[in-house]
Amino acid sequence: MIDIAIVGGGPAGLAAAEVLTGAGRAVTVYERMPSVGRKLLIAGRGGLNLTHSEPLPDFLARYAPVDPRLPAAVEAYPPEALRAWCEGLGQTTFVGSSGRVFPESFKASPLLRAWLARLDAAGVAIRTRHRLAALGAGAEGALTFETPEGPHIVRPRATLLALGGASWPRLGSDGAWVPLLAERGVAVAPLKPANVGFHVAWSAHFAQRFAGEPLKRLAARIGGASARGEAVATRDGIEGGVIYALSRPIREAVERHGFAELILDLRPDLDAAALAARLTRSRPGESLSTRLRKAAALSPAAIGLLREAHANALPTEATALAAAIKGAPLRLLAPTSIERAISTAGGVAFSEVDARFMLRARPGTFAAGEMLDWEAPTGGYLLQAAFASGRAAAKGMLAWLEAAEAG
Ligand SMILES: Cc1cc2nc3c(=O)[nH]c(=O)nc-3n(C[C@H](O)[C@H](O)[C@H](O)COP(=O)(O)OP(=O)(O)OC[C@H]3O[C@@H](n4cnc5c(N)ncnc54)[C@H](O)[C@@H]3O)c2cc1C
Repeated sequence: MIDIAIVGGGPAGLAAAEVLTGAGRAVTVYERMPSVGRKLLIAGRGGLNLTHSEPLPDFLARYAPVDPRLPAAVEAYPPEALRAWCEGLGQTTFVGSSGRVFPESFKASPLLRAWLARLDAAGVAIRTRHRLAALGAGAEGALTFETPEGPHIVRPRATLLALGGASWPRLGSDGAWVPLLAERGVAVAPLKPANVGFHVAWSAHFAQRFAGEPLKRLAARIGGASARGEAVATRDGIEGGVIYALSRPIREAVERHGFAELILDLRPDLDAAALAARLTRSRPGESLSTRLRKAAALSPAAIGLLREAHANALPTEATALAAAIKGAPLRLLAPTSIERAISTAGGVAFSEVDARFMLRARPGTFAAGEMLDWEAPTGGYLLQAAFASGRAAAKGMLAWLEAAEAG
């Protein structure tokens, strides 16, 4: 009999496997893809932002919706612990200028390779090309996997589901688990794109001229939320760090009103008075574009965006022009598809899991990682929560097994 089944070989599932084998349990990881950790590897393409160095209370405040169990899991396995773990696998970490933490190699592959070797040495069995296709009824219900050799049925003592969200489905996590759990009476908040770009109805001229152009040094605000960073205009929208950081309030405004108005500051490093002073220093006969480029140091893409935002009706008087640059309204429409999102909001509702991350509807089955109903901005918060919740669920499972064995 398989002692423990972990379904999903992402950071949450593998982190749980490490804790469980460390406690002497026999663990088999089932993964639908030909190899594990594909999303972790893709995260490595951006340098692998493993976690963040900001003070823990600020770090914990990044998670939403706020269920105390997720921050509690991160508190129990905080950023320093994840960094120490990474260094234990031979990958020294460093804090970047933004406070984000990366391995020095800027890659996920050496880390994943070392981790898999360690898990293998600890006796973790990994069965790839095993897709969870059915979850039998009742606590003793079997797990049915589709494999190239046909169906494979197992009845483990305990199961951890760590099936991820639904973004970048070609990496394996496609959200197809939602109906499997819904059938077993588990409430799942609709999966939605998070850390995602949004459609914008650019003019044909803007789309043609500026698609793919970076917009550097931006500040953006919506309601009480604000962020600084970069964005990139696409043919039909806008994406990038500053948009991802605000994607939750933007998405919620779109859900409420059908659109969201984002206010962009195209010169966040200068206050309005200083910017206006620069803009008064224009030469006679100078075109508005030249003035914006020279006096306000705006890039052609930023000037294009400014014109789009103000429907080409820009004031020429310096104070009003400075105000327009520092408060350019941009109307955002629907989020781009979940396939292009960095992460997924929604998932298994926290009301469905107990303090041990065990499904109330299915004792002995636990859930962890991005498939739970939380979201966070980019910055290392996603991986940190995947690792921390995987470990917390593994500890919950050990406590549950010990209680069951004692009784
Ligand atoms: C492009 C990109 C860049 C990112 N960069 C960062 C970053 O720099 N920092 C950061 O913190 N986060 C980053 N993330 C997010 C981060 O990678 C995820 O939040 C994290 O991998 C989630 O871990 P998980 O274990 O919960 O799920 P996943 O990593 O998605 O793993 C789930 C696993 O379950 C498997 N699975 C799914 N369904 C089944 C099934 N039915 N049967 C069997 N197996 C199944 C999947 O194939 C997958 O291997 C990035 C994501 C993307 C897409």
